[in-house]
Amino acid sequence: MDFRLTEEQRLVQEAARDFVDKEIVPHVRDWEAKGEVPRSLYAKMASLGFLGAPVPEKYGGAGMDYVSFALLVEEISRGSSSVRTTVSVQTSLSESTLMLFGSEAQKQEWLVPLAKGMKFGAWALTEPNAGSDAANLATTATSKGDEWVLNGQKRFISNGSLADYLFVYAREPGTKRHEGLSCFMVPKGTPGFSVTKVETTTKLGLRASPTADLAFEDCRVPKGNLVGKRGDGWDQVMRTLNNGRLGIAAGAVGVARAALEAAVKYAQERKAFNRPIGDFQLIREMVAESATEIDAARLLTLRAAHLRDLGVDNTKEVSMAKLFGAQMAMRVTDRAIQIHGGYGFSGDFDVERYFRDARILGLYEGTNEIQKLIIAERVLGPTAKK
Ligand SMILES: Cc1cc2nc3c(=O)[nH]c(=O)nc-3n(C[C@H](O)[C@H](O)[C@H](O)COP(=O)(O)OP(=O)(O)OC[C@H]3O[C@@H](n4cnc5c(N)ncnc54)[C@H](O)[C@@H]3O)c2cc1C
Repeated sequence: MDFRLTEEQRLVQEAARDFVDKEIVPHVRDWEAKGEVPRSLYAKMASLGFLGAPVPEKYGGAGMDYVSFALLVEEISRGSSSVRTTVSVQTSLSESTLMLFGSEAQKQEWLVPLAKGMKFGAWALTEPNAGSDAANLATTATSKGDEWVLNGQKRFISNGSLADYLFVYAREPGTKRHEGLSCFMVPKGTPGFSVTKVETTTKLGLRASPTADLAFEDCRVPKGNLVGKRGDGWDQVMRTLNNGRLGIAAGAVGVARAALEAAVKYAQERKAFNRPIGDFQLIREMVAESATEIDAARLLTLRAAHLRDLGVDNTKEVSMAKLFGAQMAMRVTDRAIQIHGGYGFSGDFDVERYFRDARILGLYEGTNEIQKLIIAERVLGPTAKK
C-alpha cells in the first residue's frame, strides 16, 4: 500500500491550493455577506478545468481521477463551503448523472458545456414531503405525445436559481415508492418551471450558495430529455448520491483543516498568563485531537476515492467517509472556536463561519442517520422488515 500521491495528484493539489489562496480566501467574507459568489470566479475555475474535474477530456472535462478530485474539493472547501457546494452539485451530481446515464447525444449537448463551465447544473430530488424518504416524492411526469409533462415542487435545491440545466426526479402517475421514477433534464426558462424561493444569507451556513425551491406546473420537456432508462430513477439516485457524498466527505476535511489552521495560528499568537495559549496542555490536546481526526477523515475519503478509481463498489466506504467527516468537522470547528475564546464567537474571525458551514455536512445528500443505515445494512445485512 502506497500512501504517496502521484505526480499528477500532487500538481492538482498544488494548483488548487494556490488558486484558493489567491482567488477565494481574500474575498470569501464579502461574498458570504452579499449572499453571492461572482460569476467571474467560476469562469476562472472553469479555465483550470475545476468545473469538469472528473469528466473525461473528450467531453470537455479535465479527466481527473477521483483521488485528484477529492484533493481539489478539499482545497476549495478550505476556502469556501459555499463555492464547494456549487462545484459539488455541478460535478458530482449534475455531470455524474450524464456521465453515468446520459446518451451519447446528451453528453455532447449538455455534458460538454457543463464540464467547460459554460452552463450550470442543479440536481433536484428533495420535496416538501420527501427528504430522507426520497421514495415518497410526489412530482409527476406524464407521457403526452412526444413530451413529458411535469407537475410538482422541489425543496432546498442547491444552484436551483443559478442552473441552466436542472436534473429533476419525478414519477409516472399511479406509481409508488421506488417504482416509476425517472430523471428529466429541464432547461432554465422552460414554460411552467419557476423558482419560488431562494435562500442565501438567512441560512445558518452556506450563505453564498443559493438554495432554491422550485415549482413545475404543466412544464413540458421533449421526450429526449429523459436521462437514463425510463423507470430506473431509484437506482440512478443511489448511484449518483454515491459520487456526491464523496465530494461532501472531502469538503468536511477542507473546512475542518481551515478551522485547525486558524486555531493553530491563534494559539501561537494569543497570550495569557504571560505565555502563548498554545503552550497550555489543554489547548495542545485540542489541537492534537483535531489534527488526528482530520487525517482519519482524509484517509477514509481517499480510500473511498481510490476504490471509485478502481471501479470497485465503494458505497459503504463513501458513507463511512461522509458520516465520520461530518461529525469530525463539527468537533474540529467547535474546538477552533474554543481556542479563540470569546473572539471565536464574534464575526471578526473566520472560525464562526467554519462552524456554521460544517453543520450542513451531516444533513444534505443523506443525513448522518441515513449514512448509518447504509453502513449497518452492509455490516449486519438488511433488516427483516423492509
Ligand atoms: C442547504 C441545503 C442544500 C440542499 N441541496 C439539495 C440539492 O441540491 N438537491 C436535493 O435534492 N436536496 C437538497 N437538499 C435537501 C437535503 O438533502 C434534505 O434536507 C435531507 O435529505 C434531509 O431531508 P429532510 O430535510 O426532509 O429531513 P427529514 O427526512 O424529515 O429528516 C428529519 C430527521 O429525521 C431523521 N430520519 C429520517 N428518516 C430516518 C430513519 N429512517 N431513521 C432514522 N432517522 C431518520 C433524519 O436523519 C433527520 O434527523 C439540501 C438541503 C439543504 C439544507
